[in-house]
Amino acid sequence: MNEHPEAKTVDFNLTEDQLMVQSLAREFASRQAATVKQCDETACFNRDLLTGMAESGLLGLSIPSRYGGTGNDYISLGLACEELEYVDTALRVVMSVHVGLNSLTLLSWGTEEQKQRWLVPQAKGEKVATYGLTEPAAGSDALGIQTVARRNGSEYVLSGEKMWISLADVADHFLVIAWTDLEKKKRRDHTGMSAFLLERGMKGMTTTTIHGKLGVRAGNTGSVSFDDVRVPAANLLGHEGEGFRIAMFAIDQGRYTVAAGSTGLIRACLDASVEYAQIRTTFGKPIAEHQLIKEMIAEMASDYEACRLLWLKAGWLKNEGKRNTRETSLAKFYGCAAAERAASNAVQVHGAYGFSSEYNVERFYRNAKGAQIYEGSREIHKLLQADYALGLRTDKPIRVTLPRPE
Ligand SMILES: Cc1cc2nc3c(=O)[nH]c(=O)nc-3n(C[C@H](O)[C@H](O)[C@H](O)COP(=O)(O)OP(=O)(O)OC[C@H]3O[C@@H](n4cnc5c(N)ncnc54)[C@H](O)[C@@H]3O)c2cc1C
Repeated sequence: MNEHPEAKTVDFNLTEDQLMVQSLAREFASRQAATVKQCDETACFNRDLLTGMAESGLLGLSIPSRYGGTGNDYISLGLACEELEYVDTALRVVMSVHVGLNSLTLLSWGTEEQKQRWLVPQAKGEKVATYGLTEPAAGSDALGIQTVARRNGSEYVLSGEKMWISLADVADHFLVIAWTDLEKKKRRDHTGMSAFLLERGMKGMTTTTIHGKLGVRAGNTGSVSFDDVRVPAANLLGHEGEGFRIAMFAIDQGRYTVAAGSTGLIRACLDASVEYAQIRTTFGKPIAEHQLIKEMIAEMASDYEACRLLWLKAGWLKNEGKRNTRETSLAKFYGCAAAERAASNAVQVHGAYGFSSEYNVERFYRNAKGAQIYEGSREIHKLLQADYALGLRTDKPIRVTLPRPE
Protein backbone atom coordinates (compact mmCIF):
# COMPACT_ATOMS: atom_id res chain seq x y z
CA MET A 1 0.00 0.00 0.00
CA ASN A 2 2.82 2.32 0.87
CA GLU A 3 4.44 3.39 -2.37
CA HIS A 4 7.38 5.36 -1.00
CA PRO A 5 10.32 2.94 -1.05
CA GLU A 6 12.03 4.30 2.06
CA ALA A 7 8.84 4.44 4.12
CA LYS A 8 8.69 0.65 4.22
CA THR A 9 12.00 0.22 5.94
CA VAL A 10 12.98 3.36 7.84
CA ASP A 11 12.56 2.75 11.55
CA PHE A 12 13.78 5.34 14.04
CA ASN A 13 13.77 2.92 16.93
CA LEU A 14 17.25 1.75 17.79
CA THR A 15 17.64 -2.02 18.03
CA GLU A 16 18.81 -3.69 21.22
CA ASP A 17 22.23 -4.22 19.66
CA GLN A 18 22.50 -0.57 18.66
CA LEU A 19 21.45 0.56 22.15
CA MET A 20 24.05 -1.75 23.64
CA VAL A 21 26.84 -0.27 21.50
CA GLN A 22 25.63 3.24 22.33
CA SER A 23 25.73 2.60 26.04
CA LEU A 24 29.08 0.77 25.86
CA ALA A 25 30.65 3.70 23.97
CA ARG A 26 29.04 6.21 26.34
CA GLU A 27 30.39 4.46 29.42
CA PHE A 28 33.82 3.98 27.89
CA ALA A 29 34.04 7.63 26.83
CA SER A 30 32.88 8.98 30.16
CA ARG A 31 35.55 6.91 31.93
CA GLN A 32 38.16 8.58 29.68
CA ALA A 33 36.91 12.14 30.24
CA ALA A 34 39.48 13.17 32.86
CA THR A 35 42.36 11.53 30.97
CA VAL A 36 41.58 13.15 27.62
CA LYS A 37 41.13 16.55 29.23
CA GLN A 38 44.56 16.22 30.78
CA CYS A 39 46.04 14.88 27.51
CA ASP A 40 44.57 17.87 25.68
CA GLU A 41 46.15 20.26 28.18
CA THR A 42 49.56 18.62 27.86
CA ALA A 43 49.15 17.79 24.13
CA CYS A 44 50.16 14.22 24.74
CA PHE A 45 48.68 11.03 23.35
CA ASN A 46 47.91 8.33 25.92
CA ARG A 47 48.31 4.83 24.48
CA ASP A 48 46.08 3.40 27.21
CA LEU A 49 43.17 4.86 25.25
CA LEU A 50 43.87 2.40 22.44
CA THR A 51 44.15 -0.49 24.87
CA GLY A 52 40.80 0.46 26.41
CA MET A 53 39.14 0.79 23.02
CA ALA A 54 40.52 -2.59 21.98
CA GLU A 55 39.31 -4.26 25.17
CA SER A 56 35.83 -2.80 24.78
CA GLY A 57 35.56 -4.12 21.20
CA LEU A 58 35.26 -0.63 19.71
CA LEU A 59 38.20 -1.20 17.34
CA GLY A 60 36.33 -4.10 15.71
CA LEU A 61 32.97 -2.37 15.44
CA SER A 62 31.14 -3.12 12.18
CA ILE A 63 33.71 -5.73 11.16
CA PRO A 64 32.14 -9.19 10.77
CA SER A 65 32.84 -11.65 13.58
CA ARG A 66 34.59 -14.03 11.16
CA TYR A 67 37.27 -11.37 10.85
CA GLY A 68 37.54 -10.82 14.59
CA GLY A 69 35.08 -7.92 14.86
CA THR A 70 31.80 -7.43 16.69
CA GLY A 71 29.63 -7.65 13.57
CA ASN A 72 27.50 -4.62 14.43
CA ASP A 73 25.82 -2.57 11.72
CA TYR A 74 26.96 0.82 10.46
CA ILE A 75 24.41 2.77 12.51
CA SER A 76 26.04 1.27 15.60
CA LEU A 77 29.34 2.66 14.34
CA GLY A 78 27.76 6.10 14.04
CA LEU A 79 26.27 5.86 17.51
CA ALA A 80 29.65 4.95 18.97
CA CYS A 81 31.30 7.89 17.21
CA GLU A 82 28.65 10.26 18.52
CA GLU A 83 29.24 9.08 22.09
CA LEU A 84 33.03 9.21 21.79
CA GLU A 85 33.08 12.73 20.39
CA TYR A 86 30.63 13.85 23.08
CA VAL A 87 33.67 13.51 25.35
CA ASP A 88 36.55 14.37 23.01
CA THR A 89 37.25 14.42 19.29
CA ALA A 90 40.49 12.49 19.76
CA LEU A 91 38.50 9.40 20.79
CA ARG A 92 36.35 9.54 17.68
CA VAL A 93 39.37 10.16 15.42
CA VAL A 94 40.68 6.72 16.38
CA MET A 95 37.45 5.21 15.02
CA SER A 96 37.64 7.36 11.89
CA VAL A 97 41.06 6.16 10.82
CA HIS A 98 41.19 2.68 12.32
CA VAL A 99 37.66 1.51 11.49
CA GLY A 100 36.32 3.99 8.93
CA LEU A 101 39.21 4.74 6.62
CA ASN A 102 41.26 1.59 7.02
CA SER A 103 39.42 -1.51 8.30
CA LEU A 104 36.16 -1.04 6.38
CA THR A 105 38.17 -0.42 3.21
CA LEU A 106 40.25 -3.51 3.79
CA LEU A 107 37.06 -5.46 4.46
CA SER A 108 35.55 -4.33 1.17
CA TRP A 109 38.61 -4.37 -1.13
CA GLY A 110 40.99 -6.88 0.45
CA THR A 111 41.61 -10.45 -0.67
CA GLU A 112 40.84 -13.20 1.84
CA GLU A 113 44.56 -13.53 2.53
CA GLN A 114 44.95 -9.80 3.15
CA LYS A 115 41.94 -9.78 5.48
CA GLN A 116 43.32 -12.67 7.50
CA ARG A 117 46.72 -11.04 7.73
CA TRP A 118 45.80 -7.41 8.47
CA LEU A 119 42.10 -7.04 9.18
CA VAL A 120 41.78 -9.77 11.82
CA PRO A 121 44.43 -8.26 14.16
CA GLN A 122 42.98 -4.79 13.54
CA ALA A 123 39.44 -5.87 14.41
CA LYS A 124 40.68 -7.63 17.54
CA GLY A 125 42.45 -4.42 18.50
CA GLU A 126 45.86 -6.11 18.49
CA LYS A 127 47.06 -3.76 15.77
CA VAL A 128 46.13 -0.13 15.17
CA ALA A 129 45.58 1.12 11.63
CA THR A 130 45.52 4.43 9.83
CA TYR A 131 45.28 5.97 6.37
CA GLY A 132 47.71 8.14 4.44
CA LEU A 133 46.62 10.19 1.48
CA THR A 134 47.57 13.79 2.40
CA GLU A 135 51.09 15.08 1.74
CA PRO A 136 52.96 18.28 2.59
CA ALA A 137 51.97 19.85 -0.75
CA ALA A 138 48.62 18.16 -1.45
CA GLY A 139 45.48 17.70 0.65
CA SER A 140 42.24 18.61 -1.13
CA ASP A 141 43.98 18.10 -4.46
CA ALA A 142 44.55 14.36 -4.07
CA LEU A 143 45.91 14.04 -7.61
CA GLY A 144 48.71 16.39 -6.57
CA ILE A 145 50.38 13.84 -4.29
CA GLN A 146 54.00 13.05 -5.08
CA THR A 147 54.52 9.66 -3.43
CA VAL A 148 55.46 7.07 -6.02
CA ALA A 149 55.67 3.29 -5.97
CA ARG A 150 57.92 1.82 -8.68
CA ARG A 151 57.46 -1.83 -9.58
CA ASN A 152 60.64 -3.86 -9.16
CA GLY A 153 60.11 -7.59 -9.74
CA SER A 154 57.82 -8.96 -7.06
CA GLU A 155 58.02 -5.72 -5.07
CA TYR A 156 57.17 -2.03 -5.24
CA VAL A 157 59.62 0.59 -4.00
CA LEU A 158 57.83 3.48 -2.28
CA SER A 159 59.24 6.95 -1.85
CA GLY A 160 57.56 10.10 -0.64
CA GLU A 161 56.00 11.63 2.47
CA LYS A 162 52.55 11.68 4.01
CA MET A 163 51.60 14.56 6.29
CA TRP A 164 48.83 15.26 8.79
CA ILE A 165 48.20 11.57 9.30
CA SER A 166 46.11 10.71 12.36
CA LEU A 167 47.86 8.19 14.64
CA ALA A 168 50.96 8.36 12.40
CA ASP A 169 53.34 7.86 15.31
CA VAL A 170 51.35 5.11 17.03
CA ALA A 171 49.72 3.03 14.27
CA ASP A 172 51.01 -0.40 13.25
CA HIS A 173 49.31 -0.60 9.83
CA PHE A 174 49.05 2.06 7.14
CA LEU A 175 46.85 2.23 4.05
CA VAL A 176 48.88 4.42 1.71
CA ILE A 177 48.05 5.89 -1.69
CA ALA A 178 50.83 6.37 -4.27
CA TRP A 179 51.31 6.85 -7.99
CA THR A 180 52.35 3.66 -9.79
CA ASP A 181 52.13 5.05 -13.33
CA LEU A 182 54.36 8.08 -13.78
CA GLU A 183 53.01 8.94 -17.23
CA LYS A 184 49.50 9.08 -15.80
CA LYS A 185 50.84 11.12 -12.89
CA LYS A 186 52.00 13.77 -15.36
CA ARG A 187 48.54 13.82 -16.96
CA ARG A 188 46.81 13.75 -13.55
CA ASP A 189 44.94 10.62 -14.63
CA HIS A 190 43.74 9.02 -11.39
CA THR A 191 43.93 5.51 -12.85
CA GLY A 192 47.69 5.76 -12.34
CA MET A 193 47.33 5.53 -8.55
CA SER A 194 47.42 2.43 -6.36
CA ALA A 195 46.80 1.57 -2.70
CA PHE A 196 49.24 -0.29 -0.46
CA LEU A 197 49.16 -1.89 2.97
CA LEU A 198 52.27 -1.00 4.92
CA GLU A 199 53.45 -2.05 8.34
CA ARG A 200 55.51 -0.27 10.96
CA GLY A 201 59.02 -1.62 10.94
CA MET A 202 59.42 -1.79 7.16
CA LYS A 203 62.92 -0.64 6.29
CA GLY A 204 63.00 3.00 5.17
CA MET A 205 59.71 3.97 6.80
CA THR A 206 59.77 6.56 9.59
CA THR A 207 57.06 8.47 11.45
CA THR A 208 56.96 11.68 13.47
CA THR A 209 54.47 13.61 15.59
CA ILE A 210 53.28 17.12 14.71
CA HIS A 211 53.38 19.48 17.70
CA GLY A 212 51.58 22.76 18.28
CA LYS A 213 48.13 21.78 16.96
CA LEU A 214 45.07 23.93 17.58
CA GLY A 215 42.84 20.95 18.37
CA VAL A 216 42.73 17.16 18.70
CA ARG A 217 45.57 17.70 21.12
CA ALA A 218 44.75 14.51 22.98
CA GLY A 219 45.25 12.65 19.71
CA ASN A 220 48.33 11.85 17.69
CA THR A 221 48.82 13.44 14.27
CA GLY A 222 52.04 13.20 12.32
CA SER A 223 53.95 12.41 9.19
CA VAL A 224 55.08 9.18 7.57
CA SER A 225 58.15 9.11 5.30
CA PHE A 226 59.07 6.45 2.78
CA ASP A 227 62.69 6.25 1.77
CA ASP A 228 62.76 3.50 -0.86
CA VAL A 229 60.52 1.23 1.20
CA ARG A 230 60.33 -2.22 -0.41
CA VAL A 231 56.74 -3.38 -0.35
CA PRO A 232 55.81 -6.90 -1.53
CA ALA A 233 53.29 -7.00 -4.39
CA ALA A 234 51.03 -8.99 -2.03
CA ASN A 235 50.52 -5.70 -0.13
CA LEU A 236 48.77 -4.05 -3.09
CA LEU A 237 45.11 -3.45 -2.17
CA GLY A 238 42.75 -3.92 -5.10
CA HIS A 239 44.30 -3.82 -8.55
CA GLU A 240 47.06 -1.54 -9.74
CA GLY A 241 45.35 1.68 -10.89
CA GLU A 242 42.50 1.45 -8.37
CA GLY A 243 44.18 3.55 -5.70
CA PHE A 244 42.15 6.69 -6.22
CA ARG A 245 38.86 4.77 -6.15
CA ILE A 246 39.98 3.02 -2.98
CA ALA A 247 41.00 6.34 -1.44
CA MET A 248 37.57 7.83 -2.20
CA PHE A 249 35.78 4.70 -0.97
CA ALA A 250 37.72 4.96 2.29
CA ILE A 251 36.76 8.60 2.63
CA ASP A 252 33.07 7.71 2.31
CA GLN A 253 33.47 5.66 5.49
CA GLY A 254 35.78 8.09 7.30
CA ARG A 255 33.48 11.04 6.61
CA TYR A 256 30.57 9.11 8.00
CA THR A 257 32.32 8.68 11.35
CA VAL A 258 33.21 12.40 11.36
CA ALA A 259 29.58 13.33 10.63
CA ALA A 260 28.26 11.16 13.45
CA GLY A 261 30.98 12.44 15.78
CA SER A 262 30.08 16.05 15.03
CA THR A 263 26.56 15.46 16.39
CA GLY A 264 28.12 14.25 19.62
CA LEU A 265 30.10 17.46 19.83
CA ILE A 266 26.94 19.52 19.27
CA ARG A 267 25.12 17.60 22.01
CA ALA A 268 28.07 18.15 24.37
CA CYS A 269 27.90 21.91 23.64
CA LEU A 270 24.15 21.90 24.16
CA ASP A 271 24.31 20.05 27.48
CA ALA A 272 27.12 22.27 28.79
CA SER A 273 25.28 25.44 27.70
CA VAL A 274 21.94 24.39 29.19
CA GLU A 275 23.61 23.60 32.51
CA TYR A 276 25.61 26.82 32.65
CA ALA A 277 22.75 29.05 31.48
CA GLN A 278 20.66 27.89 34.40
CA ILE A 279 23.23 28.65 37.07
CA ARG A 280 24.79 31.87 35.76
CA THR A 281 22.76 35.00 36.52
CA THR A 282 22.95 38.47 35.01
CA PHE A 283 20.59 41.38 35.53
CA GLY A 284 18.81 39.49 38.32
CA LYS A 285 17.93 36.31 36.46
CA PRO A 286 19.54 33.17 35.03
CA ILE A 287 20.98 33.88 31.60
CA ALA A 288 18.77 31.01 30.33
CA GLU A 289 15.91 33.48 30.58
CA HIS A 290 17.47 35.95 28.15
CA GLN A 291 16.11 35.54 24.64
CA LEU A 292 19.48 35.83 22.93
CA ILE A 293 20.87 32.98 25.04
CA LYS A 294 17.76 30.92 24.25
CA GLU A 295 18.37 31.54 20.58
CA MET A 296 21.83 29.96 20.78
CA ILE A 297 20.46 27.01 22.73
CA ALA A 298 17.60 26.58 20.25
CA GLU A 299 20.07 26.53 17.38
CA MET A 300 22.20 23.86 19.07
CA ALA A 301 19.11 21.74 19.81
CA SER A 302 17.77 21.96 16.27
CA ASP A 303 21.18 21.43 14.67
CA TYR A 304 21.68 18.35 16.80
CA GLU A 305 18.45 16.80 15.54
CA ALA A 306 19.08 17.77 11.91
CA CYS A 307 22.65 16.49 11.91
CA ARG A 308 21.61 13.24 13.54
CA LEU A 309 19.03 12.64 10.83
CA LEU A 310 21.63 13.30 8.15
CA TRP A 311 24.14 10.75 9.42
CA LEU A 312 21.40 8.26 10.23
CA LYS A 313 20.29 8.41 6.61
CA ALA A 314 23.85 7.81 5.41
CA GLY A 315 24.17 4.92 7.89
CA TRP A 316 20.88 3.44 6.75
CA LEU A 317 22.08 3.52 3.13
CA LYS A 318 25.30 1.80 4.18
CA ASN A 319 23.30 -0.90 5.97
CA GLU A 320 21.29 -1.36 2.77
CA GLY A 321 24.48 -1.70 0.70
CA LYS A 322 23.58 1.38 -1.34
CA ARG A 323 25.92 4.09 -2.59
CA ASN A 324 25.91 7.04 -0.18
CA THR A 325 28.68 9.42 -1.27
CA ARG A 326 26.32 12.38 -1.64
CA GLU A 327 24.47 11.74 1.61
CA THR A 328 27.67 11.11 3.57
CA SER A 329 29.25 14.29 2.23
CA LEU A 330 26.16 16.29 3.19
CA ALA A 331 26.08 14.79 6.69
CA LYS A 332 29.78 15.62 7.14
CA PHE A 333 29.52 19.09 5.64
CA TYR A 334 26.43 20.17 7.57
CA GLY A 335 27.40 18.36 10.77
CA CYS A 336 30.87 19.89 10.99
CA ALA A 337 29.63 23.40 10.20
CA ALA A 338 26.92 23.07 12.85
CA ALA A 339 29.43 21.67 15.36
CA GLU A 340 31.75 24.64 14.89
CA ARG A 341 28.78 27.00 15.30
CA ALA A 342 27.58 25.15 18.41
CA ALA A 343 31.04 25.20 19.96
CA SER A 344 31.50 28.90 19.24
CA ASN A 345 28.11 29.64 20.82
CA ALA A 346 28.84 27.37 23.78
CA VAL A 347 31.93 29.48 24.51
CA GLN A 348 29.74 32.58 24.15
CA VAL A 349 27.14 31.27 26.59
CA HIS A 350 29.91 30.65 29.14
CA GLY A 351 31.30 34.17 28.74
CA ALA A 352 34.88 34.54 30.00
CA TYR A 353 34.69 31.13 31.66
CA GLY A 354 34.13 29.60 28.24
CA PHE A 355 37.47 31.08 27.25
CA SER A 356 39.33 28.95 29.81
CA SER A 357 40.02 25.25 30.06
CA GLU A 358 38.02 25.15 33.32
CA TYR A 359 35.03 24.34 31.13
CA ASN A 360 35.28 21.91 28.23
CA VAL A 361 33.70 24.21 25.65
CA GLU A 362 36.93 25.93 24.62
CA ARG A 363 38.33 22.46 23.80
CA PHE A 364 35.20 21.67 21.81
CA TYR A 365 35.68 24.90 19.87
CA ARG A 366 39.30 24.10 19.01
CA ASN A 367 38.43 20.51 18.09
CA ALA A 368 35.45 21.52 15.93
CA LYS A 369 37.70 23.63 13.71
CA GLY A 370 39.75 20.63 12.65
CA ALA A 371 36.74 18.83 11.23
CA GLN A 372 36.15 21.77 8.89
CA ILE A 373 39.52 20.91 7.35
CA TYR A 374 39.97 17.11 7.32
CA GLU A 375 38.00 14.42 5.45
CA GLY A 376 37.14 16.99 2.79
CA SER A 377 37.34 20.62 3.82
CA ARG A 378 34.25 22.80 4.19
CA GLU A 379 34.92 24.27 0.73
CA ILE A 380 35.34 20.89 -0.96
CA HIS A 381 32.02 19.66 0.47
CA LYS A 382 30.32 22.89 -0.58
CA LEU A 383 31.58 22.37 -4.12
CA LEU A 384 30.43 18.74 -4.09
CA GLN A 385 26.97 19.59 -2.81
CA ALA A 386 26.60 22.42 -5.31
CA ASP A 387 27.64 20.10 -8.15
CA TYR A 388 25.11 17.47 -7.09
CA ALA A 389 22.39 20.12 -6.88
CA LEU A 390 23.35 21.57 -10.27
CA GLY A 391 23.31 18.13 -11.88
CA LEU A 392 27.02 18.38 -12.65
CA ARG A 393 27.74 15.33 -10.54
CA THR A 394 25.86 12.08 -9.91
CA ASP A 395 26.81 8.96 -7.99
CA LYS A 396 27.09 6.02 -10.35
CA PRO A 397 26.97 2.43 -9.10
CA ILE A 398 30.42 1.25 -8.02
CA ARG A 399 32.11 -2.16 -8.32
CA VAL A 400 32.81 -2.45 -4.62
CA THR A 401 30.35 -1.52 -1.86
CA LEU A 402 30.42 -2.04 1.88
CA PRO A 403 29.16 -5.53 2.73
CA ARG A 404 25.72 -5.47 4.32
CA PRO A 405 25.89 -6.14 8.07
CA GLU A 406 25.51 -9.76 9.13
C1 LIG B 1 43.78 16.93 12.68
C2 LIG B 1 43.95 16.44 11.28
C3 LIG B 1 43.96 15.08 11.03
C4 LIG B 1 44.13 14.61 9.74
N1 LIG B 1 44.20 13.25 9.51
C5 LIG B 1 44.46 12.78 8.25
C6 LIG B 1 44.65 11.38 8.00
O1 LIG B 1 44.54 10.55 8.91
N2 LIG B 1 44.97 10.99 6.74
C7 LIG B 1 45.11 11.86 5.70
O2 LIG B 1 45.39 11.42 4.59
N3 LIG B 1 44.94 13.20 5.91
C8 LIG B 1 44.62 13.67 7.14
N4 LIG B 1 44.48 15.02 7.38
C9 LIG B 1 44.70 15.95 6.28
C10 LIG B 1 43.43 16.55 5.74
O3 LIG B 1 42.64 15.59 5.09
C11 LIG B 1 43.82 17.72 4.83
O4 LIG B 1 44.34 18.72 5.69
C12 LIG B 1 42.65 18.25 4.02
O5 LIG B 1 42.37 17.36 2.97
C13 LIG B 1 42.93 19.65 3.44
O6 LIG B 1 44.12 19.65 2.76
P1 LIG B 1 45.22 20.79 3.03
O7 LIG B 1 45.39 20.91 4.50
O8 LIG B 1 46.40 20.44 2.20
O9 LIG B 1 44.57 22.11 2.52
P2 LIG B 1 44.49 22.63 0.94
O10 LIG B 1 44.01 21.50 0.15
O11 LIG B 1 45.84 23.19 0.65
O12 LIG B 1 43.44 23.75 1.09
C14 LIG B 1 43.73 25.04 1.66
C15 LIG B 1 42.42 25.83 1.68
O13 LIG B 1 41.97 26.00 0.35
C16 LIG B 1 40.63 25.50 0.22
N5 LIG B 1 40.48 24.91 -1.10
C17 LIG B 1 41.22 23.91 -1.67
N6 LIG B 1 40.78 23.65 -2.90
C18 LIG B 1 39.73 24.49 -3.14
C19 LIG B 1 38.84 24.70 -4.23
N7 LIG B 1 38.91 23.95 -5.34
N8 LIG B 1 37.90 25.66 -4.11
C20 LIG B 1 37.79 26.40 -2.99
N9 LIG B 1 38.60 26.25 -1.92
C21 LIG B 1 39.55 25.31 -2.00
C22 LIG B 1 40.49 24.47 1.33
O14 LIG B 1 39.14 24.27 1.69
C23 LIG B 1 41.30 25.13 2.43
O15 LIG B 1 40.48 26.09 3.06
C24 LIG B 1 44.28 15.52 8.68
C25 LIG B 1 44.24 16.91 8.93
C26 LIG B 1 44.08 17.35 10.21
C27 LIG B 1 44.06 18.83 10.46
